[in-house]
Amino acid sequence: MMKNSYVKVLDGGFSGQLSRHVGTKIDGDPLWTARFLKTDVNAIYATHLDFLRSGADIIETNTYQASVPGMMRYLNISERESLNLLNTAVSLAKRAVEEYAREERISSDQRPLVAGSCGPYGAYLHNASEYTGSYGKNMSQQELIDWHRPRVKTLLDAGVDLLALETIPCVKEAEALLELLKEYPHARAWLSFSCRDDKFISDGSVFQEVATRCYHTLPSQIIAIGVNCIDPKYVTPLLKGINVNMSSEQDFIPLVVYPNRGGSYSATGEWTAVPDDHSLNLPISEWLDLGIRYIGGCCKIFAEDIQTIRSEVIRCQANIVL
Ligand SMILES: [Zn+2]
Repeated sequence: MMKNSYVKVLDGGFSGQLSRHVGTKIDGDPLWTARFLKTDVNAIYATHLDFLRSGADIIETNTYQASVPGMMRYLNISERESLNLLNTAVSLAKRAVEEYAREERISSDQRPLVAGSCGPYGAYLHNASEYTGSYGKNMSQQELIDWHRPRVKTLLDAGVDLLALETIPCVKEAEALLELLKEYPHARAWLSFSCRDDKFISDGSVFQEVATRCYHTLPSQIIAIGVNCIDPKYVTPLLKGINVNMSSEQDFIPLVVYPNRGGSYSATGEWTAVPDDHSLNLPISEWLDLGIRYIGGCCKIFAEDIQTIRSEVIRCQANIVL
């Protein structure tokens, strides 16, 4: 199938959906949802199933904030135990896929995929710097590569189908991840940026320039490039113009988008939220016309929203120019 003719639906925000299965606070923890790898694996499994039953083609492991140094520090465990928890995260997602495939009698080649979530270094700092990217100025590319390597390697060894390199706020970190990916030539990934508005990545670089350049650096391994955890209103202006000639298979850049419900972080780390029941009304048809081929939700996008996105995608897909 041509790369510009299919659309995959992703899952939604793990934290919000997980909160429906647990009684304890999730947001604000330095490990965020990853803490539950130690405390409540059943809730993680149930959350994955919610999204699969809503029609997600790809689910993400809950490892966004699960860096090896972070888990060692905040769970007071060894490096080996931290790596084991990453393995647990992959097993839980795969088990949920198996269960869902059994329920729906899906053949093995049609099963939903598991993407290993890799949040930025800033998520480990736990100071909202994944929305500023300020640490990029003080770190070398090699330091960023070395920091990301253990999780990337462990997720790949555990058998994820692809990697979700997400909420990346600075160009230096994106380039570091591309370099790291080259160490695993069989690995596939999408690369998704954290953007501050309708034009710029969090570190102030122009999104479209960076996105296009990063994609062309490694088109054999990057399956899509895009944005996540962004107010939906910024998506069209951010992405419009990347694909000018949609009928050109050669020039086409597959895009990935999973917005939040409309909240945003200020540079000081304050989250401006919208209510959980704030209506979404995503312009799916318009987005598919821009070349978005992977679409889901980030913070505060729940299973029922994924169901709505799925229905919209099915409705629109017949209209995609092949
Ligand atoms: Zn988010």
